[in-house]
Amino acid sequence: MKEKKTPVSRRNFLKTLGITGAALAAPAPLLAALGNNADPSGAGAVKANQLIEYPKEMPKIFYKRVPKKDGYVGTTKVLNPVGFPDAREHGFSQFFIHGANKDYSGEWGQLLKEAQEEKKKLMATLTEEQRQDVMWGDAIVQASDIWHINLEWGKWAPAPISPTKLELPPDVMSAKIKKVAKWFGVDQVGICEINDSLRPFFFKIGRTQGSLRGGPRAGVTVDNGREVPWPYPYKYCIVLAKAEGLYGLKALTGPLNNVTVATECGEDDIFPRNLETVVRQLGYDARAQSMNGTEDFNFVAMAVAAGLGELGRNGQLISPWGAHLRLSAVTTNMPLLADDYMDFGLQDFCKTCKKCAENCPSGALSLDNEPSMIGGVLRYSFDAKKCTKQRTITGCAVCAGVCPYSKPDNIVHSIGRVIGQNPVGAKVLKNLDDLFYGAHPAARDMDGLAPWRL
Ligand code: SF4
Ligand code: SF4
Repeated sequence: MKEKKTPVSRRNFLKTLGITGAALAAPAPLLAALGNNADPSGAGAVKANQLIEYPKEMPKIFYKRVPKKDGYVGTTKVLNPVGFPDAREHGFSQFFIHGANKDYSGEWGQLLKEAQEEKKKLMATLTEEQRQDVMWGDAIVQASDIWHINLEWGKWAPAPISPTKLELPPDVMSAKIKKVAKWFGVDQVGICEINDSLRPFFFKIGRTQGSLRGGPRAGVTVDNGREVPWPYPYKYCIVLAKAEGLYGLKALTGPLNNVTVATECGEDDIFPRNLETVVRQLGYDARAQSMNGTEDFNFVAMAVAAGLGELGRNGQLISPWGAHLRLSAVTTNMPLLADDYMDFGLQDFCKTCKKCAENCPSGALSLDNEPSMIGGVLRYSFDAKKCTKQRTITGCAVCAGVCPYSKPDNIVHSIGRVIGQNPVGAKVLKNLDDLFYGAHPAARDMDGLAPWRL
């Protein structure tokens, strides 16, 4: 690894840029003995785009299925919810509006200005190599984001619905459609029925939760959103989850992390549109929804409802395999069978863990011991302003990268995933995670990982 100077103090960003050492707190010989997939920071070169195989069939030993229960979506309690805005996308939407119009008024405008100034200062301190890293990173991010823009609301022309319907029992149809989705490349697929209990998680007229996610537009100063009809015209939601490259994610912030997250984000525009076409060609109405302003709802709520995982302290979907799942969906009237909820003990684990909040560079995540009722949803608070500013300056996926569940699939981590399922085991697992990977895990260096670094 090349020696580098430390010109600025923003810890995670600099670590990602390879300025500081990436030494692990784990005993090196033990990690080496476990093999290259013991940890992304372990011995052995792995490419950032070399995805760890995400088990397409998750062994049932790692979770249990729980039936639908009134007052709950998945394992999260909901009481007269007033909505579940996706704070992350909401923040970016605000920045897009203000940025496109160079409007620095109001709280969000002021925040954008501060973020731009801070980023400028940071950029001025970079070495030539680091500056080039940022250029490569931004170019690759754009290669993904351009899908968002070209496939934004109103631009995609769906395939015709075939007049000949394939008729199959719902359980058989569901099993086949899941296999087809995985064949296209997603890792996990769940199905939920769209009913009144999920209505609060659908966006409304006047929403500002991302309808401009497709791209900023000069002259658009208010995000008026789209009207989402109710009763909703589709009965089922097929939620698609694709794992981000775990090694790149462990860069935590900066260019390598940005390209890892963005690449998956771009692919998530494609997967649901492939599946939409399949369903329509089988004779049923269907609509692809991805995080580019074409989505009618909050993906995390739908994924939890579809049994893909649980709501974590960091506000993301966490599955037994981690916090690094990107989500997209297809809504349809094809006859399907909804999945039961998933429970792997995360609600208790998050009370003990707090690792995402303790490592969040902006302090956006709650360190509370217990979740509280926020907008009718029992969850932990999330400061969208702090998070959006941080992500604008350095890029950030620290909360997903340090989550003890975001680990490669091997025997050691499998044991951990089972231990973590009960509250006593949760404490043990958290301590083991701190011992092996550090309470504040070091960011991966880009050497050997970033595709532009020879
Ligand atoms: S760790 Fe990063 S992405 Fe996560 S909440 Fe904090 S600032 Fe946002
Ligand atoms: S890092 Fe810990 S507290 Fe945060 S979501 Fe993951 S398990 Fe929960």
